[in-house]
Amino acid sequence: MAAIRAAERGANRVVLLEAGERPARKILISGNGRCNLTNIDADDPGHYHSSQPRFPRPALNSYSVEQALSFFHDLGVVTRIEKRGRLFPISDQAQSIIDLLVDQLQVLGAELVLSARVDHLGAREGGGFDVRCTGGRAWHAECVIVTTGGVSVPKLGANDSGMGLCEVFGHQRTDLRPGLVPLKSDDTTVRRMRGVRVWAKVSAQGPGGRQIEDTDDLLFTRYGVSGFTILNLSARLVPMLSQGPQDLHISLLPDDTAEMASEMLLARWQRHPHRTLGLSFAGLLHWKVARPLLESLRLNPDEPVAQIGKKDRWALAQRLTDWIVTVTDAHSFDHAEVTIGGLRTDEVDPHTMESFIVPGLYVAGEVLDVHGDLGGYNFQWAWASGHVAGERRGN
Ligand SMILES: Cc1cc2nc3c(=O)[nH]c(=O)nc-3n(C[C@H](O)[C@H](O)[C@H](O)COP(=O)(O)OP(=O)(O)OC[C@H]3O[C@@H](n4cnc5c(N)ncnc54)[C@H](O)[C@@H]3O)c2cc1C
Repeated sequence: MAAIRAAERGANRVVLLEAGERPARKILISGNGRCNLTNIDADDPGHYHSSQPRFPRPALNSYSVEQALSFFHDLGVVTRIEKRGRLFPISDQAQSIIDLLVDQLQVLGAELVLSARVDHLGAREGGGFDVRCTGGRAWHAECVIVTTGGVSVPKLGANDSGMGLCEVFGHQRTDLRPGLVPLKSDDTTVRRMRGVRVWAKVSAQGPGGRQIEDTDDLLFTRYGVSGFTILNLSARLVPMLSQGPQDLHISLLPDDTAEMASEMLLARWQRHPHRTLGLSFAGLLHWKVARPLLESLRLNPDEPVAQIGKKDRWALAQRLTDWIVTVTDAHSFDHAEVTIGGLRTDEVDPHTMESFIVPGLYVAGEVLDVHGDLGGYNFQWAWASGHVAGERRGN
């Protein structure tokens, strides 16, 4: 996006240096290979997180979702809105987005050089930059835009080399942590439920003691919890996990209070009094969830419901609506969709993406200390900040 915008604005010569043998490998795997390219809510700055919370605003304002959509529609992408405002190409193929971006680069006369890992960036006397790639190829550039991304999914070539290139000039980075990532838990009840996906409300105490919550799917895994709810909340929970384990409050009946759940159980049991406790959950909860949950309360799934007293029913209703699961850590960068942290934003002009330290050096996308919620927000940040970074020159 940055290269396209610079070429559109008439920069003399635009060269996009890509370390990989193929361009945009993260687009290729995004959205399970379908590319969730933005979100109808992506103009809302509340969906973006940074040590400087106001930093993303100017770029998001100057390149809105409407502008991004109009750009992609002009390229030929027909989009569809899915759950939670997520936008996908109706081709359901991330590769089609890459093909159209590369085509647009070529139409505008920009050069795409593959297998070109930049390993040296130096200021030239009198202005401009020396740019050198592994293997010796070199360029002189008036301006450089660093868009080397975050460090998540290293097997795709993600690394911190772009941060290193900027650090040579005095730029600094924040701590880096995996974001939009599954969370680990030692809870044995959770582990017994592995492989099951449920609809749930998950809430927790977020930064500053604020309550954060999400209602969507929740996946129990061998090591803990995942699914949309967890990945989305992880953006705010992971930094807190460095201070110690955190409690998640899970409601398997997101629309019900404990009182409502207790009445619902009583009604089910009165209607079918011959059933066992385990069978009484059939059609309500997956048995791989119901059994461990009952056993975690020392209730016997084979006991007839007629024998369950009021106290146990209440405990069960509470467990169904406010089950506390402690998470201890985040999964690694191998499993993270984004990087929390990056180059410090107070060293970059949010209106232009130009470095405050070195004129002519621009930084955009995930390499900066900005990440978005799950659902197309990270691409919107990449499009918006890239567009702003490519904007400056018409020379
Ligand atoms: C599994 C997965 C699924 C995702 N799905 C979505 C989604 O559906 N929607 C969404 O909004 N976000 C999604 N994301 C996040 C999104 O992919 C990133 O936030 C986005 O790609 C960041 O864009 P970027 O241009 O800043 O960096 P990147 O897309 O990471 O691109 C950086 C590029 O720079 C190259 N590079 C790195 N170092 C050098 C160097 N020294 N020299 C030359 N080239 C270099 C890399 O090879 C890479 O191609 C997903 C991420 C993952 C991992």
